[in-house]
Formats: sequence, C-alpha cells, structure tokens
Amino acid sequence: MDHFELRDGALHCEDVPLADVAAAVGTPVYVYSAAAMVRQVAALRVALAAVGDPLIAYAVKANPNAAVVATLARQGLGADVVSGGEYRRAVAAGIPAGRIVFSGVGKTEEEMALALGGGLFQFNVESVAEAEMLSAVASRMGKTAPVGFRINPDVLSGTHAKISTGAAENKFGIPLGEAAAAYARAAALPGLRVQGVAVHIGSQLTSLAPLEEAFTRLGGLIGELRAAGHAIEVADLGGGLGVPYDPSLPPPPTPEAYGAMVKRIAGGWGARLVFEPGRLIVANAGVLVTRLIRIKPGAAHPFLVVDAAMNDLMRPALYEAWHAIEAVRPRGSRMVANVVGPVCETGDTFATAREMDSVEPGDLLVFRTAGAYAAAMSSTYNSRPLTPEVLVSGGRWAVVRPRLDVEALIAADRVPDWL
Ligand SMILES: *Cc1c(COP(=O)(O)O)cnc(C)c1O
Repeated sequence: MDHFELRDGALHCEDVPLADVAAAVGTPVYVYSAAAMVRQVAALRVALAAVGDPLIAYAVKANPNAAVVATLARQGLGADVVSGGEYRRAVAAGIPAGRIVFSGVGKTEEEMALALGGGLFQFNVESVAEAEMLSAVASRMGKTAPVGFRINPDVLSGTHAKISTGAAENKFGIPLGEAAAAYARAAALPGLRVQGVAVHIGSQLTSLAPLEEAFTRLGGLIGELRAAGHAIEVADLGGGLGVPYDPSLPPPPTPEAYGAMVKRIAGGWGARLVFEPGRLIVANAGVLVTRLIRIKPGAAHPFLVVDAAMNDLMRPALYEAWHAIEAVRPRGSRMVANVVGPVCETGDTFATAREMDSVEPGDLLVFRTAGAYAAAMSSTYNSRPLTPEVLVSGGRWAVVRPRLDVEALIAADRVPDWL
C-alpha cells in the first residue's frame, strides 16, 4: 500500500486522480502523498519504540518543500540540516529549534551564528578546525555550542560511490583513530559542550551489515571516550536506510529489522539515540508526472520523449538511478522503449530498453519513488521552468510550489548598462 494506486483504470494519489492534477497544473509536476509520509513516520517510530525516546530528525535535504517539512513537523519530527538555508526552512515549517541537528563539512561562521542564535539540539562537527571556529563564534556570542563529532568509521557501505560517505577516502567526519585527540581538543575549547558522537555512512543502503559494523565501532569509541572523562550522552546513528525502487530486486531491510539491529548494538549504551532518515520518509511518497511529447524511432528501441528531463529529476543522470515508469491510464499492452527528456545531453535518459506500459503521444506517465532527492535537486537547465510540486491529503490537494516560469527566470538576470 503506497497511496498511489489504480482506481477504475486510472492512477490516483490517495483519492485524487493524477490526471486531474496534470490538467490543472500542467506537466511535469511532482505529486506527494501526505498519508504516505505519515505512514512511514509511524512505521519508523514503532520500529524504534524499543530504544527509548529517540530524536527522529528528518534529513531536510531529501525534500525541503515547506509543506512537506510542515507535515513532518506536525508528526513531531526534528530536522537534520546541512546549511543555514535548511535551518531556516526547518524553523519556518514549525520544527522546534531544540530538535534540530546541524551536519555538514562546510559550515560557515554565519551559519554557526544563525543556529546558535536560534538554538539547536546539536552541531555534528566534522573536523577539529570546525570545532575551533565554532567555539570562537559561540564565545563571541556568549553561548556554548552543544556538539558531537561525526566519526568516519571507515566501512564500505555497498551503495553507489556518489552517495557513500563513511569510507576512509570520503570527505566526511573524522577518522576513528583521530577521535580521542579531537575530543580532548574540543573539551578544552571554551565555547563548546561536548555531548555526543555521530555517524552517517551513506544513503540508499540495502544491507544492515555496514550499518551494524559502523555502530559497533561507534559503541567501542563511546566506551573509550567515557573512560577518558567525556560525558557522551547522545549517539546520532544517521540516516541511510534504503527504499525499494526496482520491484525486481530484493527489498532493502525493513524499519523493523533496522530497529532490532539498533536495539541489539546500541540498546545498552545509555545514550539518547538520534536518527536522521530522509529517503525512508519521503521517497515513496512522491511521483513525477510527465506527458509523452512524441515517439522517435531508435536503432534498437523507440525513444519516448517526455516533457520531464534531467533538470527535473536528476537521479538517473547523476547516479544511474532506476525509477519505475508507469502509465497514468494503462492501455493494457506493453512495449520496450528508451525514455528520454528534451534536454540537450545524452545523460538526459531515464530508462534504456525498458519493458513498460505502452503509451502514445499525449499520454501521462509517472516516475515512481520521486519524493526524495528529486524536486530538491531540480534546476532550470536549458531554461526550463522549475517544476511545480503538489501535496495531496485524502481528497484534497494543493500546489505547494508553483511552476517558476521562464518570465521569472529571465527577470532574475541583469544585463549591465555598459553592454
Ligand atoms: C543526507 C543525510 C542524511 C539522510 O540520508 P538518507 O539516506 O536520505 O536517509 C542523514 N544524515 C546526514 C548527515 C546526511 O547528509
């Protein structure tokens, strides 16, 4: 049950026919199900019920739309933010400042001051140099920054190289072997209160083994740090749990299995646990609706040229990602085709030799599992309007980001008077 299903032969989001949204708003358009997000939050809470009162901090970068973040704020979630902009979005959407975790390797003094001024749960600090800058900013403001170091546990996450973050060669975190010295240094800095440890080893993980390995290493470190006199009260276990994109592949571990593993490894740590799920909450709550412009003959298979492109949904071009493609009103027959967008790049290819619903020019299609890292990464490349977003709840729907049209794009540019 994913809240996108066929009723009377037409694909609906909850109780709303996708064709109605496309007719009113145009295509391409992202459509999100509020019920699907709420269900994912509930499933994760149940899965984590055995580990006390965890802070579930939604990773805002997965889908930063204000209506999406507000939906999750109403469910009591916190936020994991990676920029001053995301911090401001989280607060504006109603996430209490005390539930915000600030991650990222490149926090600037301005971003640190913003979060210190508004308050937050914890900075996840990724280097000693960052700890020193944060201490200086906090001291100038007469504040004390709550911090944990993000540890790079040097595990192979088994995911796509571009979304792996916990291997030694990745830019994230401080190496386990340097942790003791980093905590000693941070404890001596006047503007910091050292309270936690953090890991996040990558995204779209399809096995629990690398997570278990990372958490086990983190548990060992917590013991060492406490023995050295640091009060470690918080353990942030990051996000990364994968979601099913391709139904022909084995499904990723369930939240239940993840929760049981966490309980086994971290249940006895005596620390407040923090989780930073992004994709798990929103990926399957969204689709990108597109219209077939024309069919162009190809060497092996026809090209279906749709009106969505790599600027709207970048994941296939960026990570060779696979998205299910379905007709909004299936004709009952099947075809094999290449699905491409209109952008002038060969990378603007959504699927090659895909066995899929037969479609004809003018038909609507959807890219499934497009709620995470999709609209968030969209751009206006090729001077294409920025794709609108729609939120559905039951039989209601609303445009939660209007299409940013080409007039607005042109108006944002300035031609200097000396030209
Ligand atoms: C992106 C990110 C997440 C969320 O990852 P998902 O795979 O979407 O769960 C969590 N924590 C940090 C630090 C991140 O950068």
